[in-house]
Amino acid sequence: MSRIDDLPPLRDVIAAHDLRAKKSLGQNFLLDLNLTARIARVGGPLTGAHVLEVGPGPGGLTRGLLAEGAARVLAVEKDARCLPALEQIAAAYPGRLTIVSGDALVVDANAHLDAPWRVVANLPYNVGTELLVRWLTPATWPPPWDSLTLMFQKEVAERIVATPGSKTYGRLAVLAQWRCDARIALTLPPEAFSPPPKVNSAVVHLAALPAPRFPADPAVLQRVVAKGFNQRRKMLRAALKGLSSDIEESLRMAGLDPTSRAEQVPLEGWCALARVLAA
Ligand code: SAM
Repeated sequence: MSRIDDLPPLRDVIAAHDLRAKKSLGQNFLLDLNLTARIARVGGPLTGAHVLEVGPGPGGLTRGLLAEGAARVLAVEKDARCLPALEQIAAAYPGRLTIVSGDALVVDANAHLDAPWRVVANLPYNVGTELLVRWLTPATWPPPWDSLTLMFQKEVAERIVATPGSKTYGRLAVLAQWRCDARIALTLPPEAFSPPPKVNSAVVHLAALPAPRFPADPAVLQRVVAKGFNQRRKMLRAALKGLSSDIEESLRMAGLDPTSRAEQVPLEGWCALARVLAA
């Protein structure tokens, strides 16, 4: 018996359902239920919350979310082998766990959860960044979620919270910090997982701001930032060539030095440039 609920220990669940981890699905399971409860709490108390969990696997984090009081958890899992283990959890928490068998990239959480919902997930490494970019770039802001608590490889987590001037500052940092408060809440060694991955991991917490920090058209900003960091070693006037008929003039109008490089441009500068280009 574990300390957070009366369900069997995760090692027994994995053995009973023969859930040998598949690398192709990014499966590195968390087995310590005290740790999963701690991750569940990163975004504050869960009482009454609606939560989307991507990739519940054998359900360690799912159990943490439910034990911490989430009113409803939508768990989207691609690996059908995990479903019987998840059904056991659903039975222990009647009416609170909805399991969807499928790909998180195509499931619409709004069909199952009341907004604003939260996302809490130990993401599969192969679709983690894509899901994050989708959550950060909805058609309208504020988004239907109010916070994201996400496990990434530590190197990706550092890119999300990076500040100008650092090697890890890039598109993810600008997209995340433009409309969210982002912080690393927890760093975990490989041994926290089964099987252990090759690298350290970190839990990032992103809280949606009611409005972007600086005005800008989202599509223009994304295009400018993607192009700017695509050739991050080049000067801005070269990296951004073609975005306007006179990019040097556009950069000056935005208050930016055409000879500086993408990694030196603060969030405010990217937004100013997006406004100049949109006009
Ligand atoms: N949440 C569990 C835990 O913490 O122990 C498992 C985390 S494991 C890193 C990632 C999980 O995501 C696996 O269970 C895997 O099968 C699932 N997964 C992989 N790709 C997926 C996708 N596109 N949609 C939904 N689940 C996916």
